[in-house]
Amino acid sequence: MLAASLSSGMAMAQDISIEEAQKAAAVASAEKDTLPDDAIIVRRIPLESGPELNTDQLVVDTIPSSSEGLKIVLFNDNTWRYIRNRDISAIDETVFTQDWDTVNLRVYKTELKDLPISMVIDLVDSLKSYHYPYKGRITSKYGPRRRRVHQGTDIGLKIGDPIYATFDGRVRITKYYRGGYGNLIVLRHDNGLETYYGHLSEILVKPEQWVTAGQVIGYGGNTGRSTGPHLHFEMRYKGQSFDSERLIDFSTGTLRRETFLLKRTYFSPYSRFTQDFEMEIQSEEEDKKIAAEAAARKYHIVKKGDTLGRIAINNHTTVTKLCQLNGIKKTSVLSIGQRIRVR
Ligand SMILES: [Zn+2]
Repeated sequence: MLAASLSSGMAMAQDISIEEAQKAAAVASAEKDTLPDDAIIVRRIPLESGPELNTDQLVVDTIPSSSEGLKIVLFNDNTWRYIRNRDISAIDETVFTQDWDTVNLRVYKTELKDLPISMVIDLVDSLKSYHYPYKGRITSKYGPRRRRVHQGTDIGLKIGDPIYATFDGRVRITKYYRGGYGNLIVLRHDNGLETYYGHLSEILVKPEQWVTAGQVIGYGGNTGRSTGPHLHFEMRYKGQSFDSERLIDFSTGTLRRETFLLKRTYFSPYSRFTQDFEMEIQSEEEDKKIAAEAAARKYHIVKKGDTLGRIAINNHTTVTKLCQLNGIKKTSVLSIGQRIRVR
C-alpha cells in the first residue's frame, strides 16, 4: 500500500502541482506511521495478576454496565467483577470461529512468512484480565534443548498445584498426549494468542467452554514425556511459538511489559527473551509510540439497527472516513457484533 502510493506519487510528480505532490507525500508518510491493518490493538493494563477466582463465591446479582459487552457480577462476599457478556461479546468474534478446531492441535495454515513484521498484542484489557498460569522457578527455558527445540517454558511445581487461565478466552483442546504434553489444555484468548498447559495431573475444563483469567483450569502434574512434576507452558500466535518469558516474569507472576509488540523475529527457537535484552530496551521507545497510536484508536461494535451514517454522526466523523479506516464500501452490509474503527 505504502509502496504503491509512493511510486504512483513519484511517477506523477512531473505532471502535478507542488501542492498535489505535497499532499501525496503527506498521505504516504501518514501511512508509514500507521499500523498494518491486521495489527491487533493494545489497551493499557495493570501488570499485577487479577484476583484468583474463588469458587466459594456465590453470585448475588448481575447488573449491566455502561458497556453492553460487559456486565458487573456481585458476589456474596461483597466483591464484584466485570465479566464479559459473551452473548454480545465486545470482541473480534472471528478469533473464535476462524481456524477453530477442538480436535486437532495444529490448525493454523498461516506460515511464518505470511505474518506481519510486527503485531501489537492486546494482552489484557480494562477487565484486568491477566493472571499468572503458575508462579515458580523456571526449570527449563524456551529454545534449543539438546537435539530438540523446546517450544515452551517449564516451571517446577508440586503435583496438584492449581493452574490458572492466563487471560480471558475459550478452551480449544483438552487431551492426553502420551509421548509429549501428557494432559494438555490449550486456551485461545481474545487477543488472538493461544496458551498451552502441559503435563497436568487433572483437567477441569471442556472444549468450547469460556474461561476467565485466574480461573483454575487444572492441576499441575507429571503426565506425558516428563521427568518430574512441572508445568510446560507455551505461548503461540497463529500456531507459532515464542518465548513466554517476554511477557511473564514467572518468579513474581507479573506481566513483564506494559507494551508488547510481537515481532516476527521472535518466532524462532533462537530468539530468547534474555538474549536480546539490550535490543528490547532500545526498541522500548518505538514500542511505546506504536502502542500510543494504537490506544488512540476507537472502535464501535455494530448493534442492531446501526448504519454507517448513524455511526458516523455519533462519532463525529464521516461515512467516507469510516470506509477508509475499515477498508469497506459505503454499500457494505454491517453485521451485528462487527468491530468498526471510528478513529
Ligand atoms: Zn517443557
